[in-house]
Amino acid sequence: MASVGDTGGKAAHDARHEAPGAGTGAGAGKAGAGSAAGAGAGADAAVRRDRAVRAAVEQGLISGAEPIVALLDVAGIRASAAALRAAFDRVTAPGTPVLHAFAVKAAPLVPVLRLLAAEGLGAEVASPGELALARAAGVRAERTVLDAPAKTVAELREALALGVAVNADNPQELARLDALTAAAPTVPPCGLRVNPQLGGGSIGALSTATATSKFGVALRDEGARAWTVRAFLDRPWLTRLHIHSGSQGVPLELMARGVREVYELAEEINAAAGRHQVDTLDIGGGLPVNFASDTQTPTYADYARLLSGTVPGLLDGRYGLVTEFGRSLLAKHGTVLARVEYAKTSGARPIAVTHAGVQVATRTVYDPVSWPLRITTYDPTGAPKSGPAVGQDIAGPACFAGDLLAENRPLPLLAQGDLVAALDTGAYCFATHYSYNSLARPGVHGFTAPARGPVRFATVRTAQSVEEIVAESGGAHPDALLEG
Ligand SMILES: *Cc1c(COP(=O)(O)O)cnc(C)c1O
Repeated sequence: MASVGDTGGKAAHDARHEAPGAGTGAGAGKAGAGSAAGAGAGADAAVRRDRAVRAAVEQGLISGAEPIVALLDVAGIRASAAALRAAFDRVTAPGTPVLHAFAVKAAPLVPVLRLLAAEGLGAEVASPGELALARAAGVRAERTVLDAPAKTVAELREALALGVAVNADNPQELARLDALTAAAPTVPPCGLRVNPQLGGGSIGALSTATATSKFGVALRDEGARAWTVRAFLDRPWLTRLHIHSGSQGVPLELMARGVREVYELAEEINAAAGRHQVDTLDIGGGLPVNFASDTQTPTYADYARLLSGTVPGLLDGRYGLVTEFGRSLLAKHGTVLARVEYAKTSGARPIAVTHAGVQVATRTVYDPVSWPLRITTYDPTGAPKSGPAVGQDIAGPACFAGDLLAENRPLPLLAQGDLVAALDTGAYCFATHYSYNSLARPGVHGFTAPARGPVRFATVRTAQSVEEIVAESGGAHPDALLEG
């Protein structure tokens, strides 16, 4: 596998060899072999997680004074990155340039981006903040892709100057790029995002390929396809097509059909151009995640296999590939651990009032049907709790009635001082904090749990202090509204 944006793909190749931990010992290293490997990896992950919870209590990461903490399983993240690379290595022709750009929004944490870069991944960014995070993590410009739907002229100019690949969203953005590229000494790879309008999945807010989606050029709208072909013929520097049509709730078959549509459009453009103008297809991310058990399914290998059946021409070496997976790389490797501050009953319903709620699992709290989370329970020493299952509410600390991580969930009866863990929260949860009630961002710690030896933690993000909350909340301008 060569690497898009790398001369000869050397960095990606080296990264593979710099990562001795990748997949070793864990079935996850072979996750590409299918769901049996996925289940084995899941069992290993559950053992590591229980050890990390115990160690978090013993090492004082969670306590009465620090009643919530987030944990990241480093070996799990490495294994997912390795599984992604292996899956596409297996289906692409030798020498096919491939860049796996992690969707930063899923886990905008600098050490996570650095870890993934060490595993051979780049970064997909969609705001000046995300671009800054990728740069702070040392992700090189030529391994970074900018995809925001509302890029300003200044953001576009910066991306071009840095050498970051840009995917334009719409005709007006292309017009801005016309002006900027005319003035630029060199132009990084630029693409156009298209929407094949194939329909959505089961979660409306996350379905990007609907008839009226806000993303990209809607290919089935009248005249849009011909306009798109012309847009490429008029712009020799436009060399990529971009689609991101998957997400949680979207079937793999629908994702693969979207990729096929984009591949066919690339073939049409190249035939019209009489040359291989479109040289790279950015197929986005969106692999769904299993939130129901520790088994990882579907796997990257499942999707890569489906692509090789649905769009064989995509993988025969004529096109470079960019992927942009987020949730599937991180979700299963994050755990929120929180203390039960109080255990009470209301209307005969047992309620555990914890420190984990809407601030760390925003989507689950506002849309519990689409985003159910698994909850596991531990006693105050961090040992798994047992006992008959009793329907309980797992409540968060925020001051509104709906701040529940789980409603009437059958679990061992929780008592004050016990711990609850919200599983599969490594993407779009604690890393994308919601500051309702001025609740502090919890600390995030990566852990390694070697078969022999103690669990070791590394600080990824320190817990937010109340001083920082005041500073972020206008604390420097207390009299601002009294003046004038
Ligand atoms: C959110 C997003 C991704 C990542 O999606 P996941 O579902 O987390 O894999 C990739 N590309 C674009 C353009 C996105 O908006």
